[in-house]
Order: sequence, then structure tokens, then C-alpha cells
Amino acid sequence: VGGDAHLLRAKGVLMQFGGLKALNRVDLDVVRGSVHGLIGPNGSGKSTMMNVLTGIYRPTDGAVEFGGKTISGLTPSAIALGGVARTFQNVQLFGEMTALENVLVGLHHTFRSTVLDVMLHTPRYRREEAQARERAAGILQFVGLASLAGEEARNLPYGKQRVLEIGRAMGLNPALLLLDEPAAGLTAPDIRELVAIIRKIREHGITIILIEHHMDVVMSISDTVTVLDFGQKIAEGKPNAVQSDPKVIEAYLGG
Ligand code: ADP
Ligand code: MG
Repeated sequence: VGGDAHLLRAKGVLMQFGGLKALNRVDLDVVRGSVHGLIGPNGSGKSTMMNVLTGIYRPTDGAVEFGGKTISGLTPSAIALGGVARTFQNVQLFGEMTALENVLVGLHHTFRSTVLDVMLHTPRYRREEAQARERAAGILQFVGLASLAGEEARNLPYGKQRVLEIGRAMGLNPALLLLDEPAAGLTAPDIRELVAIIRKIREHGITIILIEHHMDVVMSISDTVTVLDFGQKIAEGKPNAVQSDPKVIEAYLGG
């Protein structure tokens, strides 16, 4: 993905639901290769921003650029194939499929085989399927789930399900990965494991936007943190500066 130091730029994003401005002209510049934290009290617009960035919502006004190209207005699948992957605030796995199959489902979107190739099991399809299985296994290895590849997703402990979701998103080979509260509901050891995985993903050059309620998690892994409150950006900068910003403290205490 080409472009400047910023992989992603949201410019003046307005997202209106009836009379509610869930996002009120928010700018967001995400530096290539960074972990960018997005925090704010409940209802401040974090998930809405993620939905705008991934094309689930079309902004009422403003635009989103990814790699220098406007992506706002494209479909979610076009944006995903363009290199923006995500996980959801609530786990969205196929419970009756195995861990490996859940990753494979994501990979199928990248296939070049036609429906006919699939129906006729042509060499092209069989080659792609074999490559995909190998790649899915590699991804499970990467996120530490190799030994659970054959387990049904619904039987995995909750912490592993959240990691599997990240693995599935990695299947898209994204340049940008958006994580919506990945540590929610996790135990302390699970959180440590998650943090290690996020660091590892970043070391692979993948840019990350991280929405997270656990302050210690965001503050320890983010290069930059943006704070939303009532749909507006109230602070932005290095974790230390943001954490001690009176406006931020006020937003959390008052919220
Ligand atoms: P956060 O993720 O920061 O907790 P959200 O982005 O989920 O907050 O929500 C921001 C505000 O927008 C909330 O007031 C929420 O109720 C509202 N909102 C979000 N999505 C919709 C929608 N599809 N329709 C109406 N209101 C919505
Ligand atoms: Mg949310």
C-alpha cells in the first residue's frame, strides 16, 4: 500500500444517527507501523469510528484515506481486501467450525478460483486450497493456537477465541489491523498473552488501531493515543501526556 508516513487518515468524519452526532468531525492520522490507541468513555464513538473506517457505516460527512486513496464509500469487503482487517467488540466466530476452518474462511476471500473451479475441483482450486490450509496453519502457529487447530471454536476458552479472531483477521494479510476491545473479559494471564501477540503483529510491520478499556494495556503498547468524548477528539499524543491530561481525567471521572 503506497502513500506517505500516514497509512490512514480520517478527515472531519461526521457520523450522525438521527439527532445524535456519534462522531463530530473527527480527524485521525495513523502513522505507518505504529500502534495507535483509541480510547474514551463508553458511548464516546470508538466503535462507530471503527465501523466508519471499515466501511460498515458510510460517514455523513468527511472522508477516510488509506494508503493515500479514499476508501470511505467502498463496501466493507472491498476495504478488507484492500488491506484493512478487524476484530469485533463481541466475538464473531463460526462456533461449529474448527479453529483452522475459521481462519480458512477468511482466506477464501483472497482466492482467485471461480465458482466453477470450486465445483469442478480444478487443479487451480486444489492448489489454492492447499496453499490456504498451509497459510492458515502458519497463522495459528503465529498466534500460538497451533495445538488447538482441530478444536471447534465454541469449545475454546474465551481468551483463545479472542486470539483466534485476531488470527482470522490476519488471514487477510492486512496492512492495518483494527482491534475493538480485544482484552475485554480476559484474565490477567490471557491479557499478557494478547499483548505479546499484538507486539508480534506490529513487529511484522502491520499498523494497528487498538480500542481498549484496559488503560495499562493501551498505555503500554500504543505509540500514540487519541481520546474521544461525546464523539469529539479531546486529546491526542504520547501515552504519558494523554494519561495526565486534565481533559482526559475529567472525561473519565465525569463519564
Ligand atoms: P463506544 O464504542 O465508544 O462505546 P459507540 O461508537 O458504540 O461508542 O457509540 C457511540 C454513540 O453512537 C452511542 O451513543 C451509541 O448509542 C450511538 N450509536 C452507535 N451506533 C449506532 C447506530 N447504528 N444507530 C444509532 N446510534 C448508534
Ligand atoms: Mg465500543
